[in-house]
Amino acid sequence: MGLAPPNINVFFMKPGRGKVETKLFSVRQLQQLEFSKSILLLHSFSGCDTTSAIHGKSKVGIAKLFTAKPDLTQNISDIFSGLSTSPESIEQAGEKLLLAIYQAPVQEQNLNKYRYSAFLRASMKPKSDLATLPPTRGASKQHSLRVYLQIQQWLGNPLPPTQWGWARGDDGILKPVTTNDPVAPESILNTIFCRCTTGCGVQCGCRKAGIACSRVCGVCSGSCTNGAPIENTVDDDVDDDILYLEDN
Ligand SMILES: [Zn+2]
Ligand SMILES: [Zn+2]
Repeated sequence: MGLAPPNINVFFMKPGRGKVETKLFSVRQLQQLEFSKSILLLHSFSGCDTTSAIHGKSKVGIAKLFTAKPDLTQNISDIFSGLSTSPESIEQAGEKLLLAIYQAPVQEQNLNKYRYSAFLRASMKPKSDLATLPPTRGASKQHSLRVYLQIQQWLGNPLPPTQWGWARGDDGILKPVTTNDPVAPESILNTIFCRCTTGCGVQCGCRKAGIACSRVCGVCSGSCTNGAPIENTVDDDVDDDILYLEDN
């Protein structure tokens, strides 16, 4: 529907089941819909084979937003359809769209701030589901990068995935980058430490908390099997650049 040329009509049939009748759709008819021009963005941003769906935000709900706010979504769609849009512009446009999906007030332009105020509201309720909070800026960025990569793929402009929200694991398989932010501010992470005396194995408190040991740990001081990887030096950065050139 998004890519079909106007002189060709393609038909889809959704077979009926029980009392539900069989339905026939034509691309030409679907192209009359308000959001048809931004269908690639709508489909990939709300979750498709290569991009995550947004917790609690259905495709139908997001399609309604595209119908209700055609100017906003068309503008964002144009940015995502641009063949040489910068990662920064994609990050900003994606953040804007997520704010709209989470019905943030127009003056709110920062997803982290909005997430924080949503958290405060949720914490007053007797029951709250943290997964329904808007995502962080860091997570929004990686999602938006993957959406751009997918849209460009559809438009016949393949880009290197490792620059657009994917990382290659040790096994060579691409994995989505969830975020590059630390799980909590460093001041909080520094309050988690262990006093393991016989190595930092499965019983290690740091390991259980899902973080690496660090210099604040009583005995291991971070130089154990659960230690943080050695930080990047300038030399490592040069190596990264060489790897990146080989990637291309
Ligand atoms: Zn430990
Ligand atoms: Zn340790």
